[in-house]
Amino acid sequence: MRCLECGGSYVESSERYIYQDPVVGNISVQGVKFYRCDKCGDVLFTPEMLDVIETIIKERKHQFINNLPIRDFITAKETAKLLGVSRQALNKNRRIKKGFVHQTTLGENTVYVKKSVVQYQRSGDGRYPLSRLTSGIPEAVIEQCRLMMDKDSVLETIDSLCKAAKYYPQKPGKSK
Ligand SMILES: [Zn+2]
Repeated sequence: MRCLECGGSYVESSERYIYQDPVVGNISVQGVKFYRCDKCGDVLFTPEMLDVIETIIKERKHQFINNLPIRDFITAKETAKLLGVSRQALNKNRRIKKGFVHQTTLGENTVYVKKSVVQYQRSGDGRYPLSRLTSGIPEAVIEQCRLMMDKDSVLETIDSLCKAAKYYPQKPGKSK
């Protein structure tokens, strides 16, 4: 298969692939087949790869949202009121159902992340980054790395990040 961008050819690969998701941050996939252009590096996903990525995004999103403090959530009733729609309209809203507003279930009820509802009301898309990876400070990157790497790779990453930033975070309380 030829690459439309550069005319190179796609080569099968199942190496580690880092997918950058704007909401949950970087996702590392390993051992799943995909194709990569041998010239420009353009990537073609296989359906299997897409499935894996989608599943990880869902899990990660769930994990992030469920770790938010309870005060960050509002009920469906409050959400409908904020959006100026009926409860039925809220339940039927396709974009919201699809996850354009961060939400989770509490018992049998769906609850919504208030910040996300407010953003949705303003722009029609309430998804904001749940991962701190968008922050460039080493601590934030390390936190994200922990989710996708083994310990040695994390240590290596921390080291190179600190070197590059000339910034070495101090352990709290140790400097006394
Ligand atoms: Zn190419």
